[in-house]
Amino acid sequence: YRKTIIAGNWKMNKTASETKKFAEELKAILPKAKWCDVVVCVPAVNIPAAMKAFKDVRVSVGAQNVFYEKSGAYTGEVSADMLKDLGVKYVIIGHSERRQYFGETDFTVNKKVLAALEAGLHPIICVGESLEQRELGITMELIALQVKSALAGVPAEKVRKCVIAYEPIWAIGTGKTATAEQAAEVCTFIRTTVRHLYGARIARSVTVQYGGSMKPANAAELLSQPDIDGGLIGGASLKAADFVEIVNAAN
Ligand code: 13P
Repeated sequence: YRKTIIAGNWKMNKTASETKKFAEELKAILPKAKWCDVVVCVPAVNIPAAMKAFKDVRVSVGAQNVFYEKSGAYTGEVSADMLKDLGVKYVIIGHSERRQYFGETDFTVNKKVLAALEAGLHPIICVGESLEQRELGITMELIALQVKSALAGVPAEKVRKCVIAYEPIWAIGTGKTATAEQAAEVCTFIRTTVRHLYGARIARSVTVQYGGSMKPANAAELLSQPDIDGGLIGGASLKAADFVEIVNAAN
């Protein structure tokens, strides 16, 4: 079947020493029972510190971006092999902030997904519409396009390694969460899109997360939707207590 995955996206937050402090706090309160996978995606420079800090906490370390070339003259970039070599398991690809501020497109997202899979990483592929697109009534067309482009050329046996995160742009960092019905509608549609591409068995095995102002107060309702298999959490993942409450809500 498929995993429930609760992933924190720290974005550009926390130094290496703050990472260590967070891991200690988390360790003290994270329940031992394992009803979901827990992931924390940290800034690339802090991955070694995070690997060390989370060593004896049942948390996988993720990255927030990757470049698609294997090596070479690409100043400032980090390759999938470099992440894999550090022990990274997941990598967020195509977050709306990267699309908005760093020129990422469906085309580069696809190249990054292929590179991540090639290196043995699990891509967390972000898709989502702007408020304007929602109001124009083109959400589903846009999501289908984003999902299909991200997965272009991904062989069937590798699709189950992908996580797809539905993050409506209007809900990110705004405190404005999608209602459980809105979130569920799109997450179900994402699975349907994967089914059309790869068939029902594979579609059932793909984890689909919701992200956008998920917090302890709304996590249980969102996570109880049958096609929402986890969360990608920004702001509320920065405090160990809030993050653990969301992990508990996935139970
Ligand atoms: P917030 O939870 O801060 O709204 O961020 C969501 C997000 O972008 C996770 O990737």
